Amino acid sequence: MSQTHNYDVIIVGGGGAGLMAALYASQNAKTAVVSKLYPIRSHTGAAQGGIGAALGNIEEDHWEWHAYDTVKGSDYLGDQDAIEFMCEQAVQSVYDLEHFGLPFSRTPEGRITQRPFGGHTNNKTGKSVHRSCYAADRTGHMILQTLFQQCVKNDTQFYNEFHVMDLILQDGKTAGVVALELATGEIHVFHAKAVIFATGGHGRIWDITSNAYAYTGDGAAVLARRGIPMEDMEFFQFHPTGIIKLGILITEAVRGEGGVLINGKGERFMERYAPNIKDLASRDVVSRALYLEVKAGNGIDGKNYVYLDARPDVINKYAALDGRTRPDGSPYRVTADEITSKIPDITDFCRTYLGVDPVKDPMPVQPTAHYAMGGIPTNKFGEVLMDENGTIVPGLYAAGECACVSVHGANRLGTNSLVDLVVFGKHAGIKAAEYAKGVDYPVLPEDTIAFTQEQIDRLRNGSGKENPAKIGQEMRTVMMDHVGVFRTEEGLALAVEKVKELRQRYSEVRTQDASTIYNMELLNTWELGNMLDLALVTAESALARKESRGAHAREDFPNRNDQDWMKHTFAWLEDEKVRLGYKPVTVTQFEPKERKY
Ligand SMILES: Cc1cc2nc3c(=O)[nH]c(=O)nc-3n(C[C@H](O)[C@H](O)[C@H](O)COP(=O)(O)OP(=O)(O)OC[C@H]3O[C@@H](n4cnc5c(N)ncnc54)[C@H](O)[C@@H]3O)c2cc1C
Repeated sequence: MSQTHNYDVIIVGGGGAGLMAALYASQNAKTAVVSKLYPIRSHTGAAQGGIGAALGNIEEDHWEWHAYDTVKGSDYLGDQDAIEFMCEQAVQSVYDLEHFGLPFSRTPEGRITQRPFGGHTNNKTGKSVHRSCYAADRTGHMILQTLFQQCVKNDTQFYNEFHVMDLILQDGKTAGVVALELATGEIHVFHAKAVIFATGGHGRIWDITSNAYAYTGDGAAVLARRGIPMEDMEFFQFHPTGIIKLGILITEAVRGEGGVLINGKGERFMERYAPNIKDLASRDVVSRALYLEVKAGNGIDGKNYVYLDARPDVINKYAALDGRTRPDGSPYRVTADEITSKIPDITDFCRTYLGVDPVKDPMPVQPTAHYAMGGIPTNKFGEVLMDENGTIVPGLYAAGECACVSVHGANRLGTNSLVDLVVFGKHAGIKAAEYAKGVDYPVLPEDTIAFTQEQIDRLRNGSGKENPAKIGQEMRTVMMDHVGVFRTEEGLALAVEKVKELRQRYSEVRTQDASTIYNMELLNTWELGNMLDLALVTAESALARKESRGAHAREDFPNRNDQDWMKHTFAWLEDEKVRLGYKPVTVTQFEPKERKY
């Protein structure tokens, strides 16, 4: 039994990218959002640090500087035409959000205020620049609330708690998606002229992660199983400051406000790794530094973590040593109250989860799996690419973290994901509606729901010899140990073999809960299958890339190799195998240079 719904444009996912796409698509086309979570529970709501745009409200700044920083941050793997487009559009996008009602934090004069963030610089001096626009440390939360309100105002239709399990393609064109309704267990066909995937990331593949439980890579995996390649999956960002063991993120904004990283010897070690911008170097650089400090025995008490120190006296001491000033030229000094008011949620997390008050004690931190630079390949209009030559799949779009435009290349700068969501979410929405206007409803294939039903039946009727919880834990451990901050040939080969074994064992799982309504066990087990597929693509792509670039650091190939490797990976999942291809990076004006911070 299944129900069928007809729409011009279906958007899968109600996070920042999905809602932005919905807002623009619904202006010109009959649009609905299908989301496994209630939209405002999406991971965008966890974004703390802010959204980067060269408004220049605090000091001189230009979108061209933002573009250069993004190219450099990407370790010259980002496509420069797309980066220029994003950074230029970022400025208007922030004003659009402001006009939609987003309550940005303000300067005393009433303008949107801005703070420094990792890798964002004044291109003339090389020093940090105030570029991140924020609403305290709740920027993502405010983006979701604002966009959701706007969508409701514009009568966008929502199908909440519907899990999309398959993409319908007919004669190589998009014809819709198939979803399972959580509340009833019923299968729904969303017959559509255009579909936009905005399903977020897949950090739950790793053991220590800042990502929400829902970050299981569903959209990417659904498309991979339908023959769409995955781009640059070896590049997964580890954020340096996760709360130890838990992985919960402590935003880079803490360092933007002057917090410093301190090792077990009491040294501010980032001075050695990035003499110019120190604690605000790009995340790949800081995560590696932290790892190397621990390896050298410089962790706190010799253990595998360091301190992030945001006590006012410590901030003031290092700000004085750095000669940091306020915009009016006076020395930069902060009080405990100022810190607490700028990062209220972080202060709360630390008190709750660590029993540590950040204005009184340093916070113990370690790298945490954070952000997928790779994903579904698209061009700058969100159109999904089916090969390295840029051939598009008619009617198929992707935006947000699940997509790879690529603007983040080998390493994303902080605040650039929220920019990516609003800029590319908007343009995917506009393009999809335009496309839908020009075509008739595609014919649905006869067996529209067959593959969805098959996936469900397999989980319900497996032999039951294997336990999904155990498979999940083994996957997270092997990915953390061997496809983490540093990698080697041996470790990656081991990870590939292990994930292949786990995929085999996954075919033997059987869910225990036979009910149809609210069957989370069934869906969580299905999500595990998605993660295993993406883990394999990630490990295979990483094994093949014999160089170090951005977040992909090979101990056996420590240098960046532009001659052979300044190219994007395209990976096709073919049952047990992954087939690889490559596409050149688009360079406009920034020739590759050695990265120095
Ligand atoms: C803790 C944390 C802090 C961050 N801070 C910042 C920051 O300060 N600045 C910044 O720029 N970036 C930040 N990031 C990154 C950024 O927040 C995310 O990359 C971004 O919000 C992702 O948005 P999205 O719209 O792509 O996905 P999401 O907001 O996660 O939305 C995904 C949507 O897809 C839906 N979905 C998924 N699978 C299915 C399925 N099978 N069927 C139907 N629906 C599905 C979900 O229901 C959800 O609505 C942070 C990330 C984390 C984890």
